[in-house]
Amino acid sequence: MAKKKVMSVLLSAGLVLSATGVYAQGPGGAPNSNAASAFDNKIIKKISADNMYNTIAYLSKVPRQAGTEGEVRGVQYIKGQFEKYGYETEVQPFPIYTVIRNNVSGLLEIGGQDLKPYVFSGSYSGEVTAEVVNVGKAIAGTVPDNVKGKIALIERGDNTFVEKVQNVFDKGAVGVIMYNNTGTSNEFGQASYGQNIPAVSITRSQGLSLVEQVKNGQVTAHINVTGSGLEEKTSYNVIAKMKPNKNKDTGQVVMIGAHHDSVPNGPGANDDASGVSAVLELARVMANMPIDTELRFVTFGSEELGLLGSYHYAGTLSNEEADRIVAHFQMDMIGSKDAGGDHEANGLIMYTIDGKKNLVTDLASAAGTRTALGEVVPYGQLGRSDHQPFHELGIPAALFIHSPLEPWYHKPTDTIEHIDKQKLQETAEIIGASVYQIARPDTPALEHSRVAPQPVDYDFENRPPGA
Ligand SMILES: [Zn+2]
Repeated sequence: MAKKKVMSVLLSAGLVLSATGVYAQGPGGAPNSNAASAFDNKIIKKISADNMYNTIAYLSKVPRQAGTEGEVRGVQYIKGQFEKYGYETEVQPFPIYTVIRNNVSGLLEIGGQDLKPYVFSGSYSGEVTAEVVNVGKAIAGTVPDNVKGKIALIERGDNTFVEKVQNVFDKGAVGVIMYNNTGTSNEFGQASYGQNIPAVSITRSQGLSLVEQVKNGQVTAHINVTGSGLEEKTSYNVIAKMKPNKNKDTGQVVMIGAHHDSVPNGPGANDDASGVSAVLELARVMANMPIDTELRFVTFGSEELGLLGSYHYAGTLSNEEADRIVAHFQMDMIGSKDAGGDHEANGLIMYTIDGKKNLVTDLASAAGTRTALGEVVPYGQLGRSDHQPFHELGIPAALFIHSPLEPWYHKPTDTIEHIDKQKLQETAEIIGASVYQIARPDTPALEHSRVAPQPVDYDFENRPPGA
């Protein structure tokens, strides 16, 4: 995951210089704003807020929680639309794990005495009897080989519970006893993520006493866990590609994304059926446009579980493929009547992970002035959506959202009644104009930025979504 994208970094660096006139040096003469509008119009005149509204109405009829039938229903609809528009479409499954706790009970018997342990959420249910081996904090590379077939005694701290369990699991341990590094509680955290061994936790004083016993001779423990485990489910990303003309191909890719999953029991009209609706509408509009750059539209699953779909997708990209991606536009919650307060740009803001401008924000803020919004779009710093993994790959990425958020955020009341067609239209036009500026065939690779007409100044705003 520690890939670095040198070309894009250079490209972004070039854009930083835009104020000194780089923008004006388009090949074949400096484009004026009329020419820019003519290019924009090829896209934005075709964008229909009604289409987007109808998509949201369909998707928000049932919650789309990851791993449920509701997600599958949404995925099938999205896939069908992409295919209808002529895109090469792939549904990419990936596993997600849900913790099960159902009348959990845990037993830890040592020398005929039950230490009454806590059962880690995610612990495998099972029964083992084996010798106890003290493995310290179970840091990778320090776990002794003799833990194989034994129960690992682990101290809390310095690395995550899941890493600790994984590290001894990898060495063949058959059970885990973890003791606290502070206080008097035996209850802490989730430890297991697919390792099929029972894992229980005890207090610090119980742990230190066990460390002494192990030092002084062989100690056998009996662990029995019931009612605990992980359920594996499947979530999905939907990926649609449109390859450029064979005779003019920059080899570059521009990505437009949103997440299709919702929170449990939430219809997720704004979060994020709105973003999906714009992804689909832009895919429809751009399907037959001449392009020299690959268009890649993706809707991610399991965003609400911690960006799992986008991380999965990013993890499947080879270095070479990541290098070809020049921009990622993420739309998450772009249509609420009740979001954005009285901020400028109708509350629309572009968030980057590092709080810095990049290719995406440069293009989109300028596009804001030329399209329905008619204003520059400010930018700020925030993660919490699927632009994060792309940023980590070194790809210029930004999240488009209205901030502050609406009162219905993550509630069962995030319904179609609160959707504003005008906001959908404005955001889709900005992304459409920006993406087409990259993808249209009249400019050479890596110099697309130079055709940005009338570069605009746009401000950083420290605007937390709840503010
Ligand atoms: Zn969201």
